[in-house]
Amino acid sequence: MHHYLGCWLECRNRNCGFPIRVPYSRKLTKSDTGAFSFACPVCLQVNAYERKHLRKVQFRIPDPYKSGKLVLFSAWLACAYKRCPGDLVVFTVAAADVSLAALLQLWKTWMVKIRCSHGHRFRVPHVNTWWVQEEKKLG
Ligand SMILES: [Zn+2]
Ligand SMILES: [Zn+2]
Repeated sequence: MHHYLGCWLECRNRNCGFPIRVPYSRKLTKSDTGAFSFACPVCLQVNAYERKHLRKVQFRIPDPYKSGKLVLFSAWLACAYKRCPGDLVVFTVAAADVSLAALLQLWKTWMVKIRCSHGHRFRVPHVNTWWVQEEKKLG
């Protein structure tokens, strides 16, 4: 019986709680909190997470990130106040066969529950100004 090491992240939105498979990362050491922001692909809420929210699991199904079925993305958001340097990198996951154009139609409706260090809200960019890249692991 094969086992495939991965991580499980449970959405922090109490009305959702969707469990999301994320790539396993050896970088998840005890040296820091491993803080990251993540957008739930189901409820589209962006919340702050830490390493402690990740549960290491021996999955029976091969890593869908390695087989290219799922893609981990990071997107960059700027503070809603133009003069404020506050910014935020948000991780999220999507099926590999969904176009980025379709994803952005979803992502523009993100509800960002995180404030910048000055207490401001983050601005979700216009569809043609997103800064997105593919990632191998969280953080
Ligand atoms: Zn959710
Ligand atoms: Zn700000």
